[in-house]
Amino acid sequence: MQAQVVRVPIAPMHMINAYLVIGDGGVVIVDAGLPGSAPRFEQALARHGKRFADVRLIVVTHAHVDHAGAAARLRELTGAAILAHRADRPFYTQAEPVRYCPTGPFGRLFKASGVANAAYDGFEADIELTGDDHFPLHRFGVAGTVRYTPGHTSGSLSVHLESRDMLVSDLVSSGILLGGIIRLGSPKRPPFEDDPRLVARQLDALIAAGGERFHVGHGATLTTDRIRRHIRMLERLPHRSASK
Ligand SMILES: [Zn+2]
Ligand SMILES: [Zn+2]
Repeated sequence: MQAQVVRVPIAPMHMINAYLVIGDGGVVIVDAGLPGSAPRFEQALARHGKRFADVRLIVVTHAHVDHAGAAARLRELTGAAILAHRADRPFYTQAEPVRYCPTGPFGRLFKASGVANAAYDGFEADIELTGDDHFPLHRFGVAGTVRYTPGHTSGSLSVHLESRDMLVSDLVSSGILLGGIIRLGSPKRPPFEDDPRLVARQLDALIAAGGERFHVGHGATLTTDRIRRHIRMLERLPHRSASK
């Protein structure tokens, strides 16, 4: 049977999302949310008749605080391994402060406020992907694969399910500001992004791999035609904005 994607609301109005993937043989958490988010996972699991003990893996897509913040705590509570990519390792271990490349006024404000650089409990991944690895999730009970999709950060991961659901985290966002209440169906760049052209290539590859529904870290789920439009916008950006 196909895995089911369950959104875990970390902040209201789709502002910050994490996900559960409920497969035949287990539950995989995709993104850990802000520090202190563990009860939200517990509630989402309970709504589907699951407990922390059913969680078999925690995939952390990248090292930003709104995605990695509660990973160490969730590992304690579930006993599941954390999977992440080596390229973001210095940030997960807190050896280096996370780098944020704002894409607009909101990102710059968020960065200046200090919220973005809030520390979280550092951790070392139990399963560390390197290079271009694809990691199958079947042995954790889910029909899908973790793919290396750098661009938002250099260590960004996405989860590709056989149901044609793609959990892309911050490769793309939707709606106003951090998701917000209006225009939820419209793709936009997340508040931070290292390399928009590289992001465009990843999104292209995920469509080519059969992606139909793109579940995001900020905003509502996007369809393929919306993603195509976003790719064209990223490709038209002037080169200089790439590293601002
Ligand atoms: Zn991010
Ligand atoms: Zn984010």
